[in-house]
Amino acid sequence: MSVDRLCRRAGRAAGLGILLMAPLRTAAVMALPAPPATAAVPAASAASATAAAPAVPVASAASATAAAPATAAVPAASWKATGSIWSVPPFEFRDGFWTNLHHFLYQEALAMGKGQASGETRQAPNPTEPPGPRGEDERTAWSEALRFYAGSVVQHDLLFEREMIDIDYALAGLADDASLRSPALKPELAAALVRAAPVYRARWWPAHDRANRFWIAVATPMVQQLGPRMIEQLAAAYHEPWPARPILVDVAVYANWAGAYTTPGDEARPGHTIVSSANPGNQGFAALETVFHEASHVFVDQANDAVTHAIEKESRARRQEPPPKLTHAIIFYTAGELARRNLAAVGVADYVPSAERYGLWTRVWPTFKPALEEFWQPYLDGKTTLDTAVARVVASLGGAGAKAVPR
Ligand SMILES: [Zn+2]
Repeated sequence: MSVDRLCRRAGRAAGLGILLMAPLRTAAVMALPAPPATAAVPAASAASATAAAPAVPVASAASATAAAPATAAVPAASWKATGSIWSVPPFEFRDGFWTNLHHFLYQEALAMGKGQASGETRQAPNPTEPPGPRGEDERTAWSEALRFYAGSVVQHDLLFEREMIDIDYALAGLADDASLRSPALKPELAAALVRAAPVYRARWWPAHDRANRFWIAVATPMVQQLGPRMIEQLAAAYHEPWPARPILVDVAVYANWAGAYTTPGDEARPGHTIVSSANPGNQGFAALETVFHEASHVFVDQANDAVTHAIEKESRARRQEPPPKLTHAIIFYTAGELARRNLAAVGVADYVPSAERYGLWTRVWPTFKPALEEFWQPYLDGKTTLDTAVARVVASLGGAGAKAVPR
């Protein structure tokens, strides 16, 4: 996780602005994930999981202040993820072979220095990565697939290009042993994946699969226990209904340079996060902040949401451009603060939110943090309104980093 493009999201650029809402699933169908060293069969697939009550019932955990967050607009959901899925409302965590292979090839091709056109950079390699192909046949197959990715794939942005987003959804719809016949996959891309698959399955997938399952096993109890509070607090803070259709969280050893990215979904498809299990910024207690930060991007689109509207309204009144990326900074601050607060309530006294931990406030947004601490924090504490808090943040920034708008 680093710098200012951290966990960008697809929105206007990809033409995916429609938020999809459905009744919040309150019946947990989650059984704890399998122990890390398991075979390929998931411990709990969406189809087979028996209903295990979460450690903290949804109703009691969400009882503190406001009424339960509103949800809206029932979608006609037609798209469905396939494979090893752990349903832990409000998420479906998934560990998928093809999704992992696609992102691994993308990262390996970036290492060949071909990704400049897309602006992508390589995620730091996992120091425990197993050795690669063995023998001539494996090396040939792997390097052919890699050459295709280096020549034709890494020029495209994983998050901001519709075709790449469609590939992520297509792969999430495939079982690990499925053939790659999907209209969303070009034959050349499918051929490269099929060429690389036996090598990946033999050399890397067992370790990647284990890492993903372990990450899911760490993250899901936090989501079960603290998720209801996070949902309630985030929806209330943003004045937006929570997207009640489960958000698909595809866990991959490699995601993108930021460690995680999210697309908001459309009429048929849910919000979709790709999160790296190997990125230290997503590990341990930080997994809670990561998944709810990413979920925020599904319903706070940085264009038509209440926070952005309030920023724009105050900026217009002050005849300034809105401070760039202020909504995203507010997402960082809010998800980090609420994760810190809810972890503290269960005895985790020293959680440091990711923006703090990775120096975003000093390196990227040096003027934002004092303003958010002084004026946004009181809002999160229930002491003022959204409009007042945002107006004061914008006023205190005084046009910092923004141009004055001519009359
Ligand atoms: Zn973000």
